[in-house]
Amino acid sequence: MSYEVPKKFPTTVVGSYPKLGNASEIIKKRDRNEISEGEFHEKIRDSINEVVKDYLDAGIDIISDGEQSREDMVVYFAQRLKGYNEGDWVRIFDNVYFRKPVIVGKLERIKEMIITDWLYTNKISNGRPVKLIITGPYTMLEWSFDLFYGDRREIIMDFAKIIREEILEGIRNGAKYVQVDEPALSTRPWKEEADLLKEALDYIFKGIDAKRIVHICYGKLERLLPYILDYPVDQFDLEFKNSNFRLLPYLKEYGYNKELGYGVVDVHSLQVESVNEIKEAIDKLMKLDIIGPEKVYIDPDCGLKLLPRDIAKEKLINMVKAAKIAREQY
Ligand SMILES: [Zn+2]
Repeated sequence: MSYEVPKKFPTTVVGSYPKLGNASEIIKKRDRNEISEGEFHEKIRDSINEVVKDYLDAGIDIISDGEQSREDMVVYFAQRLKGYNEGDWVRIFDNVYFRKPVIVGKLERIKEMIITDWLYTNKISNGRPVKLIITGPYTMLEWSFDLFYGDRREIIMDFAKIIREEILEGIRNGAKYVQVDEPALSTRPWKEEADLLKEALDYIFKGIDAKRIVHICYGKLERLLPYILDYPVDQFDLEFKNSNFRLLPYLKEYGYNKELGYGVVDVHSLQVESVNEIKEAIDKLMKLDIIGPEKVYIDPDCGLKLLPRDIAKEKLINMVKAAKIAREQY
């Protein structure tokens, strides 16, 4: 079954969706070694079914598996790579803790980490393309403790190798959209940091025949923007709505010319953006006259995992409606 992605303003998602069904329980069972990795991915399918049902109901063109297997975007991979141990809980503020995994040896890929869920999602997507989404090397580096390497470049390049292997396995299985998530980059918006990631991305994406996407969100995106424009990617997927579209004039200023994943709904707000509001956001971008509608992908700012399911779904429904209206106009 093949599905034709609209030529203008295709709609998509950044990746994560609220944990549905028993996903959280199943993740805990896997953490406690009560079930094998194989059983884990088998059991998580019910949750993926629910996610995909919502995406298809809403009419999203390019979907994801909702990252139902991933409790955390770094820990998930750390648990499956050679070279890590579990790590302690690190306090972020007040009583908010997260587990920062510790690098204790040479980082190596043991086996695929995201392909099983991705393949399954393809089976139930009614032909809609499914993004292959992986946490990027910079974010893996920044959100881990290093007790082994003592050299950030060496770490990031070893992650690059691991990520490229994973992506190549996806490509061999027909992946057409590959997204690398780098939320950590915007927390350090400096040229040296952006260059460090560029070297890794050059390695990761070399010769990759698929849509190459990098997702970055929050922080000082406008400071980062001039340093990332020559990245070897087809598309940047960026947050706009949460920062009240502050980034828009900078796209014009720096001559932005790539495809854009345009974040038009706020994943930190329970308020569902109206169709009209989203359409106006699209108008704002089009008025800048920097890229045509065929280069604009309409999506949320970031993953939807923190929202209640009904709100996440309503936001997607309105997004799709607004994109349809925009297609008539532009
Ligand atoms: Zn994000």
